[in-house]
Amino acid sequence: MITGVGASSSDIYEAVLALSRSIAGRNDLSGLLSGVAESLQRIVAFDFAALILHDCEANSMYSYVLDAAAPADVGPTRRLPVEQDPAGWVWIHQRPLVIALEAESRWPEFTEWVRTAGLRSLTLVPLTAGDNRLGALGFGCLAPFAPSREELAFLERIASEFAVAVEAFLAKQDLLRERDRLRTLFDVTKALVSKLSPDEFRHALERLWSDAGFESAQQSEAFKQHGHALASQYYEAQAAQPAAAVVLFTERMLRRDMGRYILTGRIDRVDEHPDGALEIIDYKSGRAEVDENQVRNDLALHCYALLLQEIYPDRPLWIALYALRPNKKVAVPLDADALAEFRELLDALVAQILDEDWDTLAPRWIPHCAGCEFLELCVRKLGLNPAE
Ligand code: SF4
Repeated sequence: MITGVGASSSDIYEAVLALSRSIAGRNDLSGLLSGVAESLQRIVAFDFAALILHDCEANSMYSYVLDAAAPADVGPTRRLPVEQDPAGWVWIHQRPLVIALEAESRWPEFTEWVRTAGLRSLTLVPLTAGDNRLGALGFGCLAPFAPSREELAFLERIASEFAVAVEAFLAKQDLLRERDRLRTLFDVTKALVSKLSPDEFRHALERLWSDAGFESAQQSEAFKQHGHALASQYYEAQAAQPAAAVVLFTERMLRRDMGRYILTGRIDRVDEHPDGALEIIDYKSGRAEVDENQVRNDLALHCYALLLQEIYPDRPLWIALYALRPNKKVAVPLDADALAEFRELLDALVAQILDEDWDTLAPRWIPHCAGCEFLELCVRKLGLNPAE
């Protein structure tokens, strides 16, 4: 049976909040799945639920089973082509679907799979955030169950609220994965070009490249070709102007006590130039272009400069954005006066935040809240209430 219909808006919202809380800071799919299972259980009782995501590359549906008895465990998974999976029908038509499994014959492989698990009925609702059709949410019962129109509407509402949080999680995961791959490619390429000739590099990349970790052979090939292109650009750039800077450190978390607040940040990379100047480099995986204005106005780079300044107070500083996709770096000097001016602005901004009378502010729930990193803060500190 599926029960729990009639949960209030606040109950649903509390479940969404619990989901956001449980997946905050997690980038792994198992974190998302256990978060969904545990949060769903707050508002609806089910025997089995499933998060079914559409895989664009393979045009298939990937089902992750969530067991009510063990919500922290990810159950069996299965990938089926869209047309062989009832969740594919839901994904295409954007309508709920109720299946009495004993009499079902349209999706034989899928039906056989869920029947083996003992299910007798299945209810699927679209998992869609705005225009982004993510997949479906499924609820399986060990007994025959046909939900009423109100019950279906309730499950659809849950799915649409959860979809925003799931979408935010998946988008973040995509970005991180893309960024990690590009950065690994970037670092490996740079390390190798300094040691190998162009021909040796080409052979090494072809020989050592692996498709492991990529979603498809095409995606793997695209990254490999990007590696070749990066290397060519490096060899050309080196021939024109040999690089003299050395890497001082990469990926380092720094912290500075600023008086009324603590400034922290993870710096992607710092290079040291022969004249002693330090260049702070922030990688950008999504940008197609980067220019000097963007670097001069980059808030994070200025914060990193303040962090680095404490450790190396007398070194001249440069700040740089490195757009990985076009393989383009733009660096500008940041003199002490400009950094002091930035610190004044930052101090004033923090003072404004700290001294604000938050009691007079009352945020309103908008769809974006479900996937927002500040959701818990808004609820706890500002009394955000979705039921209003
Ligand atoms: S910061 Fe804005 S979007 Fe985020 S939870 Fe608060 S009100 Fe919603």
